[in-house]
Amino acid sequence: MLEKNRLSELHGLLAIVQSIDIGVVVIDRNYRVEVWNTFMENRSGRLPSEAFGRSFFELFPEVDEAWFRRKVETVATLGTPVFTIWEQRPYLLHFKNYQPITGLEDFMYQNTTILPLKGLSGVVDQVCLLIYDVTDVATNRHQLQAANRELQRLSSTDRLTGLYNRGHWEERLRQEFARYSRSGGQASLVMFDIDHFKRINDSYGHQTGDAVIRRVADAVRMTVRDSDIAGRYGGEEFAVLLPDTDRDGARIFAERLRGAVQEQRVSYEGQSVCFTISLGVAESTQAVLGAEQLIAMSDRALYESKAQGRNRTSLYGVDVAAEK
Ligand code: GH3
Ligand code: MG
Ligand code: MG
Repeated sequence: MLEKNRLSELHGLLAIVQSIDIGVVVIDRNYRVEVWNTFMENRSGRLPSEAFGRSFFELFPEVDEAWFRRKVETVATLGTPVFTIWEQRPYLLHFKNYQPITGLEDFMYQNTTILPLKGLSGVVDQVCLLIYDVTDVATNRHQLQAANRELQRLSSTDRLTGLYNRGHWEERLRQEFARYSRSGGQASLVMFDIDHFKRINDSYGHQTGDAVIRRVADAVRMTVRDSDIAGRYGGEEFAVLLPDTDRDGARIFAERLRGAVQEQRVSYEGQSVCFTISLGVAESTQAVLGAEQLIAMSDRALYESKAQGRNRTSLYGVDVAAEK
């Protein structure tokens, strides 16, 4: 009677192993497959008869053999399970992802457990590998991360121009400044403002004014390097921080930008509207105490460009005397 109960219990357990939505593989100490459930059959496309007795490494050449052997030896020696998680190792066995909703990922993310199985003698003579499909979890995490990145981008950029908005730009400037004071690096700041912009608005309307602002931003994008930090500082005022650039390099940049803006045109009722900018450049030297001071210096140089007739570049400490 007892035997019969045990047999039916075993039968029930086998049915569970077969139908459960987790991969179950049992291998002996020579890495030969002894159990292969339906999940494994469906995901690998191999029948149990094709897997039984085969080497695990032959069936799954993608598995790092030295690494897997180390894991299994640990499990067998200590008699305790080990785990792998998808964040560290996206998968152990390379299975295609067939989930219709989460079709964004092309392989199945997996968590795995390697369990020791003791024989009647109490020795671990088999290990059981459990494969959990965690593609849903991974996909959700990735979508959340992408949404957060997009949110971050939206909150740091200016809607009209796509350049950094003032808040984010100032934050970046402060970060750069902190870096220079640690490492003694150098940078220059270029601030500029569209000339007689009120006239553009008054003569052609705000929409044309907005188009001019966008064109100026295009010229900025055409002129900057990847490491430069460009932002819309105010209505028609912009700022570009040039890391690792002295004021001579910054002057060259400023003049190139001035030329690029001068080339731009915006059309208004068949007319071609042109526009110019005035620029102020300041270099961060050891005497510069902080980001605010650097801004004040380039602003002072920008004011000088306006006073001298606009559409020009002025350098703080060269074209306008440094304040003592
Ligand atoms: P200056 O050469 O001295 O810089 O003359 P300006 O006319 O450009 O000087 P001011 O800074 O006094 O004028 C800027 C004008 O820009 C005032 C404001 O109405 C307009 N403005 C600010 N932001 C925007 C914007 O987003 N779109 C448009 N169309 N106009 C804006
Ligand atoms: Mg202005
Ligand atoms: Mg202006």
